[in-house]
Parts: sequence; C-alpha cells; structure tokens
Amino acid sequence: MDERSQNDLQLQQHLRSLPAVSTLLQIPEIQPFVQALGERAVVHVAQKVLAAARRRILAGESPLNVVTWLQHELQRLLRPRLEPVINATGVIIHTNLGRAPVSEEAALAMLEVARRYTALEIELESGRRGGRMSEVSRLLSMLTGAEAGLVVNNNAAAVLLVLSTFCAGRSVLVSRSQAVEIGGGFRIPDVLRQSGARLIEVGTTNRTYVRDYAEAITDDTAAILSVHRSNFRIVGFTAQPELRELAELAHARALLLIEDLGSGALLDTAVFGLEHEPTVQEAIAAGADLVCFSGDKLLGGPQAGIIVGRQELIERVERHPLARAVRADKTALAGTALTLRHYLRGEAVEKIPVWRMIATPVDALVERCRAWAEALADVIEAEIVRTEATVGGGSLPGETLPSVALALPAATIAQKVPGLSVDELARRLRIGQPPVIGRVEEDNLLLDVRTVLPEQDEALIQALRRVLQPT
Ligand SMILES: *Cc1c(COP(=O)(O)O)cnc(C)c1O
Repeated sequence: MDERSQNDLQLQQHLRSLPAVSTLLQIPEIQPFVQALGERAVVHVAQKVLAAARRRILAGESPLNVVTWLQHELQRLLRPRLEPVINATGVIIHTNLGRAPVSEEAALAMLEVARRYTALEIELESGRRGGRMSEVSRLLSMLTGAEAGLVVNNNAAAVLLVLSTFCAGRSVLVSRSQAVEIGGGFRIPDVLRQSGARLIEVGTTNRTYVRDYAEAITDDTAAILSVHRSNFRIVGFTAQPELRELAELAHARALLLIEDLGSGALLDTAVFGLEHEPTVQEAIAAGADLVCFSGDKLLGGPQAGIIVGRQELIERVERHPLARAVRADKTALAGTALTLRHYLRGEAVEKIPVWRMIATPVDALVERCRAWAEALADVIEAEIVRTEATVGGGSLPGETLPSVALALPAATIAQKVPGLSVDELARRLRIGQPPVIGRVEEDNLLLDVRTVLPEQDEALIQALRRVLQPT
C-alpha cells in the first residue's frame, strides 16, 4: 500500500472513531449538562463540536478528545453571560461593566414590578386609563424645577426624540466645539441627521460667542442645541457662552434651547472635591426649554434617558410616533422612580452606590484595603498603594478622586505561584466566579477599593485566595 492510501485509511479511521451525538448524550460526564441545559442545547453544541472535529481531521490535524471538548463548550454555556462581577478598576461609572449599580431599594422595586402586574397605565381611583409617566414626571418636576418630565430608553434616544419632534426638516445651531462624539457610535452630527434636522455649526473649535449663534439664525432655524462635551475638555484660549445667554437669545428669536447634559447630576460634585459638574436644576434655571440626560450615569439609576422641560413641549414629545419606539419599560420606570425618591428624601449619598463611592473618604478605603491585605496575609504579601479613581461615564474628564488599591507586584506573584504573570493572574481573576476586574499598571495588579461594593469584600478575598492557592 502506498503512503497516500495509508493516510486516507487513517483519516477514515479517525472519522469513524467519532462518536454519534446520541452516544455522547449517554456519557456520564455529559449527563449533568443535559439536566442543567436541556437535551436540545446539548445536542446543538455536540453537533457543532463533531462538525468542527471532522473539519480538523480532514485538514490533517490530530484528532482531539471530543468529550473533553464538548464538556468545555457546555461549561461555557452554563455560565450566564450577564453574571455579576466585582469592579476593582477604580472607574465608578464603567460603561463596559453596566454603568451604575442601582440602590438596593431600586433593585427591589424593579424585581417587584417585573414579577407582578402593576398599575402601569391605569388610574386606580377612577379605573380609567392613566399615563405611565405620571409618577416620574412629578418626581422629576419636584427635583429639577422643570414643569414635567419623561423617561425613555436611554439618553441617545432622548436626544433623537427631542430633535425629531421639534427640528425635523429645519436647522439646529451647535457650537463647533460641541459637535462631538460621545463614544459607542453616538455622534451629534449623525444624531441630528437621523432626526431629519440640519446641523449648522457656529463659532470655532476653541471659541464660540453669542454673536456667532445670533448671526447664524435664519427663518429655517428651529433650535439651539447645547451639548455637554462629556469625555474630553478643551483648555487654554477658549470661550463658550453661558447657557443663560443662549436662552435669552433663543427666546428673543422664538427658538428652543435644548441641552444635552449627558451625565445629568442632581447633586453638586464640588462638595466631594471634584470639579463642578453642571446639574439638571441649573440647566432648567438658566432657561433651557428641554434638558436630556442619562439615568444610569451620575443619577445612579437603571438604564434610561430622561427629558425634562416645559409641560407643553414634553406633551408634544410624548405624542411623537418615535416616543413609542423608545419608551421605557416598567422595570426601568420603577427603578428610576425609586432612585429619584432617594434624592427627594435627602438620602442619595447614603443609598445610591455611585454617590456612596464618590463620597467615601479615603481613610475608610485605606481601612478596608488593610482588612483585605490581612485576610490574605497567609497567602500573599500584598501592598497597599495610593491610586486615583475616576467617575467615568463621560462625566468629569480628567478629574480624579484619591483612592487606594491592593497591589500585587509581579515578583510577589511569581514567588507565590512560579510562572504566573501579572496578566495571567488578571485573566484568572476575570474568569473566576465571581469575575474580578482589576487593572494592570507598571507590572502590578491593582484592585481599587473605591469601586468595590463593601458587601463584595468577602467574595473578592475568596476569589484571590482561589487563584493564588494552587491546589
Ligand atoms: C452619555 C451621553 C449620551 C448618551 O447617553 P446614553 O444614555 O448612553 O444613551 C448622549 N449625550 C451625552 C452628552 C452623553 O454624555
């Protein structure tokens, strides 16, 4: 027999040695997955693994153990993609980690409405149909001084909806320094185009004056749009009119002043040693007709976009066909309403995780970090280092909060587990249960205390013990 046909024979043997799907399902190691995932899912994954194994064999690669392979794939499927993680990055509003964790009470309110019927659109007293926005609208009005409010899917939707309602087919003035990209595909020029409005850029990249806006107004102009720059700042020779001045101009010329505030703080960040982030109340007081902001940035609630402003305008926004397409669901409404109530009761800093993290004094963080180090003392000699945490979420760019991290230097890690690099340790923590997300800086793994919820301290220590204690 020549070499070629001998190879063919071997190939055929390998292919024949692959088990059938029904055989795989009967294997004791696979049985628990059938229980946990259902037979249909296991069959689906087994077929994929077998097809891939066939391709490998035909490509002349060495055959793999399909049972081990299948187990690995099923294990991955078993873990929910959206499991809770421990955020030790030092970035408080971390978009990749789901932005703001909501308060305990907000989470419970969301759970309650999710698993029961709720009086979403019914007036209980009269039994007649009611508006789903009546509660949040009233709360928003009390908190911001605006006449009314509306909650939609997110702030991108809020801005698009407002522009679509009032500016479609007309032009909108935006300062050249504010025609920005926020990230994740949200670009002011694109959103304007999508709404059917025409963008008229005024001023220059660094300096824009009221007269630049005034000179650009024509019969076609519908509004002035002011945009919070969010994730960058311009410094040096710069100028941008106050919102109040823009309001005066807009109203003198019968235009709307629309403000995309981005983060939408209700509390003054300056109280916590940060730069002052413009608040919603200030924007309303300055004369903005409509203000849009996110629910899950500095507000600290679930994902939502919030619009506040004059009653008559909010009603027009609500009637636009797009409003239905981007409306908030009952869980987001319940979570947002409860979050707003924390502000009304004056307990936002204690109850809302984002604000609690911002407000925690650095001494308290040092103390927690010490406790972490002590709890790990028998496993590894960790260091306590000063770091800088950030607010994130496109608010306060360049601003930092003093913070503290548990530091594991490369040398210490390698001493404990020979061959374990900093990056590999970071990876093992990420794929652990629960996943812990730290950051690697100058050959150290840093676990920042400020963004770790205190109730997760124990889980974090256990996660570290597991990856550092080779069994
Ligand atoms: C974050 C942000 C948005 C987008 O808000 P989402 O809630 O993420 O949709 C829009 N505009 C500004 C100025 C922002 O900072």
